[in-house]
Amino acid sequence: MLAGPTAVGKGTVSAYVRDTHPEVWISVSVTTRAARPGEADGVHYRFVDDTRFDEMIAAGELLEWAVVHRTARYGTPRQPVEEALAQGRPCLLEIDLQGARQVKESMPDALFVFLAPPSWEELVRRLVGRGTESEQERTRRLETAVEELAAEKEFDVTLVNTEIHAAADELVALMSSRRTTDSESA
Ligand code: 5GP
Repeated sequence: MLAGPTAVGKGTVSAYVRDTHPEVWISVSVTTRAARPGEADGVHYRFVDDTRFDEMIAAGELLEWAVVHRTARYGTPRQPVEEALAQGRPCLLEIDLQGARQVKESMPDALFVFLAPPSWEELVRRLVGRGTESEQERTRRLETAVEELAAEKEFDVTLVNTEIHAAADELVALMSSRRTTDSESA
């Protein structure tokens, strides 16, 4: 499970893992936010409306869900995660802090990895440089980031995202070592 503040590079790290480690299964979240240019439905997210999101909650189809940055809802469909776990595949969930806390309740043995920025200044620079959010949205995201950074100690491991490829490789190594330890103790 990978969490961390806005613009720290969680999405880029996951994308790199997707391209270089096909053995890792990556969860595709559902969200009520609009697709950004270049995002494809079913690849980056499944884009749904509020009614469908409500139905998924009511039917118990989500492993966890949260309102993120006070704007849109995001959630992890439960069934694909259970299927991937049953196949023994390493699973990667890239979610926010509230979601991570929920998964910790239902899957306490999962590995919780916190992706941290090299510094606060670098985080702000990445968010502004991305250029996909309005001024108001950026301010809101930085407010969430302050809360999220404070939660680092709730995680099993912190990875500092100084360089995307290194962070992604380290993440995959952590996932593999955890699985080896699990099977040894099983
Ligand atoms: P973005 O809108 O930039 O794609 O994502 C915003 C935030 O939503 C990120 O912090 C990301 O980790 C979080 N997020 C994405 N998918 C999920 C999910 O399925 N559940 C939860 N709780 N958060 C998610």
